[in-house]
Amino acid sequence: MNDWLSHRVRATPDATALVSAETGDRWDYADLDADVASLAARLAGLGVEADDHVGMLLSTRVEAVSLVHAAMRLGATLVPLNTRLTPGELAEQMETADLTTVVCGESTERLAVEAVEAVAAAVGGDDDDVSEADTTVADESTHSIPLVSLDDPQWERVASLDGANPGDVSPAEWADDDTLVLLFTSGTTGDPKAVVLTYGNVFSSAVASAFHLGVLPDDRWLVPLSLYHMGGLAPLYRSTLYGTTVVLRGEFDPGATADDISTYDVTGVSLVPTMLKRMLDSRGTLSDSLRFVLLGGAPASEELVTRCRDYHVPVCPTYGMTETASQIATARPEEAVDRLGSVGRPLFGTDVAVVDELGDPVETGELGEFVVSGPTVSPGYYDDPEATAAAFGERGLHTGDVGYRDEDGWLYVLNRKDDRIITGGENVDPGEVVDALREHPAVEEAAVVGLPDEEWGERVAALVVTSDAEVTADEVEAHCRERLAGYKLPRLVRFADELPRTASGTVERSVVRDLLAAPDR
Ligand code: ATP
Ligand code: MG
Repeated sequence: MNDWLSHRVRATPDATALVSAETGDRWDYADLDADVASLAARLAGLGVEADDHVGMLLSTRVEAVSLVHAAMRLGATLVPLNTRLTPGELAEQMETADLTTVVCGESTERLAVEAVEAVAAAVGGDDDDVSEADTTVADESTHSIPLVSLDDPQWERVASLDGANPGDVSPAEWADDDTLVLLFTSGTTGDPKAVVLTYGNVFSSAVASAFHLGVLPDDRWLVPLSLYHMGGLAPLYRSTLYGTTVVLRGEFDPGATADDISTYDVTGVSLVPTMLKRMLDSRGTLSDSLRFVLLGGAPASEELVTRCRDYHVPVCPTYGMTETASQIATARPEEAVDRLGSVGRPLFGTDVAVVDELGDPVETGELGEFVVSGPTVSPGYYDDPEATAAAFGERGLHTGDVGYRDEDGWLYVLNRKDDRIITGGENVDPGEVVDALREHPAVEEAAVVGLPDEEWGERVAALVVTSDAEVTADEVEAHCRERLAGYKLPRLVRFADELPRTASGTVERSVVRDLLAAPDR
C-alpha cells in the first residue's frame, strides 16, 4: 500500500478536499495532491527519506495538511509538535522523538530555533557537527536538527533545486505495522509520552469512527482543534479515506467558528467541551447543517448536553486517547441525551474491559479501570520499554481512566485512577464531589483534588467557577454538606474565573493543585 491521498485522488480528483475558513480558498483532491507532491519533492530534495522523523511545528494551516500527507508519501514518520510549549519543553520532545528534520512556519520559527538550539546545547553540538542541509532559516546558529521554515524565502528557492521535481517522488510503500505518526499525549498526569501510531492504528480508527458515526461522502468536517492532538489530526486522515471535505480554521474564536458552520454548510465538527460552551454562549445555537458535534478530550457536563438537546445541536460525547488513535467510544446524537453522562458504546472492533485492582473484570455498573484492546491500540511508547510495559498489558491498554458500563453496554467515564483522593483511609472519587458541586445553581465548573494533609493524609479541596460572584466558600460547603458524607466534603473551596486546561481540554490537575495549595492572598 502507499499513501492514502494517492488512492483518493485517483477516485475523486474533483471532490473538495480542503477549504480555508479564513480565506474561503478551496482545494479539490487534485489540487491538494499537486501541493503534496511538490512539498514531498522539496523535502526529498533536502534529504528527507523514508523512516525519517519529521517534526511538524505549525499552526493549524493549509500547509500543515499538505505536510501530513507529504510525510506519508515519503514514508517518513510525522511528529506533530505542540506550538504552545516552551523551547525547553519542546527540545525535550524533539530529543525523545529522535527528530531528523523540523518543519516550522513564520509564527513558530522563533520557538523552533530556540528549541533546536536547546537540543544542540544538550547534546554538546558545535559548528563542526552541523550538517550541510542544516537550515533554511537562521544560518549563524548551531543546530543539531535541520530546520525548514515554509515561510522563509529561501524555502521557495529549494523548489527549484535539482531533484525537486514533483514527478520525482514516488509514493513510499509501507506495511500496516509501520509507524505513521509519533504523537505526544497531553501531559495531564506527567510528562507527555510519545505514542507510536501505526498505519494500521490510524486506518482502523478512521474507518471505525466513520462507520460508527455514519459519515457520508458529502460531509464537511470543521477542524478548529490543534493538529498536534489526535482530535485535530484524525479528521484529516479520515476525510482522505472517505473523500470528504475538511474546513480548516486556524485560530479558534467562538463566534467565527460558529459562523463557519453556517457559511460552509458544515456537517461535522470536533470540539472540546469548553469550545462548544463558548460557541453556544456566543451564538445561542449552531447551524442546522450539522449532523455531528464530536465532543471529547474531557467530560461533557450534563448541563451542556441538555443544552444541546434543547437547541437541537447534535452532540456526540466521545471518549478517546492518544494511545488509541482517538475514539474508544462515542454516543450518537439521538443516544447522547437518552443517557446523560455516557460516552456511548465502544467503536466497532474496540473491546473495553472494566477491571478491578487485580485486573479482574467487575460486575456491570461497578467502578473499575478501562482496559482497551483492538486494532486502534498503539504498540507502545516510542523508545520507552518501561512506560510501555506499565501501560500495555496482556489484556490491552490500561487507560488509567475509571468508570463503569451499564447493562446495555454504555460507558461512563468518571475520573482518572491517579485522581482518587484517600483521606483518613477513605477513598473519595473526585467526580462525585464535582457532581455535588455542580448541583449548586451558581456553579458552572469545578475541579476537585486531594491536598497533602498531616492528619488525614489528604484532604478534599475544590476549585470552583461560578456565575455569581456573591457566592461564598461557606455557602458552597453548606451545599455539599447536604449531599455528601462528611469525609467527602471539600475542606477548602476557592474560586477561579476558569479552570486551567491543556490544549486538548482536560483540566490541568497539577495547576489546580498548585492554585489550591498556594497561600491565601
Ligand atoms: P497524559 O497521558 O500525558 O497524562 P492525557 O491522558 O490527558 O495526558 P490525551 O491522550 O490527550 O492525554 O487524553 C486522553 C485522556 O483524556 C483520557 O485518558 C481521559 O482521561 C481523558 N478523556 C478523554 N475523553 C474524555 C471524556 N469524554 N470524559 C472524560 N475524560 C476524557
Ligand atoms: Mg493519558
